[in-house]
Amino acid sequence: MFEYRHIDSDGNNIDLPLGKVVCVGRNYLQHIKELDNEVPSTPLLFIKPTTALCDLNKPVVIPKNFGPCHNELEVAILIKSPLCKASTEDVTAAIWGVGLGLDLTLRDVQSTLKKQGHPWERAKAFDASCPMSQFAAVNRVENLTDIDFSLQVNNELRQLGNSQHMLFSIVKLLVNISHAFTLLPGDIVMTGTPKGVASLSVGDELLIDLNGHFSIMTNVV
Ligand code: ZN
Repeated sequence: MFEYRHIDSDGNNIDLPLGKVVCVGRNYLQHIKELDNEVPSTPLLFIKPTTALCDLNKPVVIPKNFGPCHNELEVAILIKSPLCKASTEDVTAAIWGVGLGLDLTLRDVQSTLKKQGHPWERAKAFDASCPMSQFAAVNRVENLTDIDFSLQVNNELRQLGNSQHMLFSIVKLLVNISHAFTLLPGDIVMTGTPKGVASLSVGDELLIDLNGHFSIMTNVV
C-alpha cells in the first residue's frame, strides 16, 4: 500500500503535499564516464511519479525478473514554494530541505530503451523506484555546494559524493528546471548520482549517510 510522507530529521511529518520527483541524469563527470555517456550541455531531466516514492528507512524492495537493479544515491531537494521561471534568489528561498534518495534503475531495461530511443520510465519510474530519506531543514545545511554523502553496501564503500562535483549546482539546476516546467510545493528534485552504480541483491545491507545530518541502515528485499 502507498504510505509515503515527507518527514523531517526528527521523524515528524512535513506539512507539504506529495508531488512529482524531477531527476537529473549525468550530473557528475566520473559517473558519466563509468556508463560511457556524453557530457550534457544542459541538464538531462526525467520525472518519477508520486507512486515511485517510499520510505528509505524501510527495507528497499527491488523488482525481480527485470535484470539488474542499480543503486544511484543522490542528494534530494524538497521544494516548499512554487518555482516558475525562477531566479537564483527565488530558488534559495524555495528550498525546504535536503535529503538523500535512491534513483533505483533497471539497467538492462534502460539500455534497451536507450537503444530504441524510447523514454526511460519503465526502467526508472516503477512503484517504489525512489526510496527517500528524511529531510534536514535547509537552514541546518551550511553550504549547498559542499554536501558529503555516501552509500555502503555490506560494509564496503560503494558511492561517495560531494555536491561540489556536480556539473550543474543545486541552485543552477532548480533555476534551469523551473524554466522547463513549474516546481510545486512538495516536489522533490534528485540531483544526479556520483560514480559507483552497481547491482543490488536481495539480502544486501545498506548504510546511507548524509554527513552531519543522519545515517540510515536498511536492507534489500
Ligand atoms: Zn539518477
